[in-house]
Amino acid sequence: MDTPRAVRARGITKCFGDIVALDGVDLDVTQGQIHGLVGPNGAGKTTLLGLLLGLAAADSGRLEILGTPVERALAAPDGVAGFVDAPGLYPSLTARQNLAALASLRGLDAGTAVIDDVLGEVGLTDVADDRTRGFSLGMRQRLGLAAALLTKPRLLVLDEPSNGLDPAGKRHVHRVLTRLAAEGTGVVLSSHLMDDLEALCSEVTILATGRVVFSGPLDKLAAENRELDYRLRTSDPETARQVAADTAGVRIVDDSGVRQGADALVVRALVPALDELVAKVVRSDVAVRELAPVVSPLEAAFLALTEQQEAGR
Ligand code: ATP
Repeated sequence: MDTPRAVRARGITKCFGDIVALDGVDLDVTQGQIHGLVGPNGAGKTTLLGLLLGLAAADSGRLEILGTPVERALAAPDGVAGFVDAPGLYPSLTARQNLAALASLRGLDAGTAVIDDVLGEVGLTDVADDRTRGFSLGMRQRLGLAAALLTKPRLLVLDEPSNGLDPAGKRHVHRVLTRLAAEGTGVVLSSHLMDDLEALCSEVTILATGRVVFSGPLDKLAAENRELDYRLRTSDPETARQVAADTAGVRIVDDSGVRQGADALVVRALVPALDELVAKVVRSDVAVRELAPVVSPLEAAFLALTEQQEAGR
């Protein structure tokens, strides 16, 4: 049997005047999946998240949320919670009062114990009785997540949830999202942070100029067969440079450090050529002290895909 879909979008298009923000976008998110939405600035991520939250309607295409077709934008469809840009909060109320007010607006039965629970989950217990006027961006983000938790969503939609979070805040948010997904909630989040995506998401959709340039499991994206830049630190950089220059399939991208007496150079190669280089360096009695991609394989794949799309614009 198919895993139930939290989101099924086909051919979604959305324009703002002459600007095509989304251009035939497909998106599939199963329940229990944390799905990342990535792309350069202006790629259409917030617009797409807004459609999922019912903040706007698509111009064309088909959108189903939690199995129900969305015909027009009203409010968040049943079972959906989240926010784009920043959560709406009342600055003169405390964190606890904000949650109580939001619960009452939504007709939710959220007593003190429930509110304490969600505040604890996002790590805001200590500031529960502080007015939100003085809250940092990271604290606002976490309070927005706490508000979404009150509704026990089956689809959670978050725009840059790690924005402004310190490491402890990030740990709280990651734990909450992982817990929700384990309980069957579909989560769609946008992020510019590759480490966040790697830590959280099983699948990602990459948007560039309103189009999907990749959608699928993260490991498939990272494993795509492409050359990467690697920093190679050795005990004898000059010899390593000569060996690299003589190794087929290896290109020296930056040896300026070596010329200035540093022990590292940057080479570009596919993995088999890189293996060959390392073996030859070691056979030349040179010790390899470090070999690491300059950017992560995931980030490299992201950059390559989005640059291709922008170049073809
Ligand atoms: P960022 O990473 O900068 O947040 P994004 O991927 O979320 O970008 P969107 O905010 O969805 O991108 O914007 C997509 C395109 O649509 C951009 O060109 C943007 O200027 C345009 N756009 C978005 N909302 C509106 C609006 N309300 N009116 C006019 N243009 C808009």
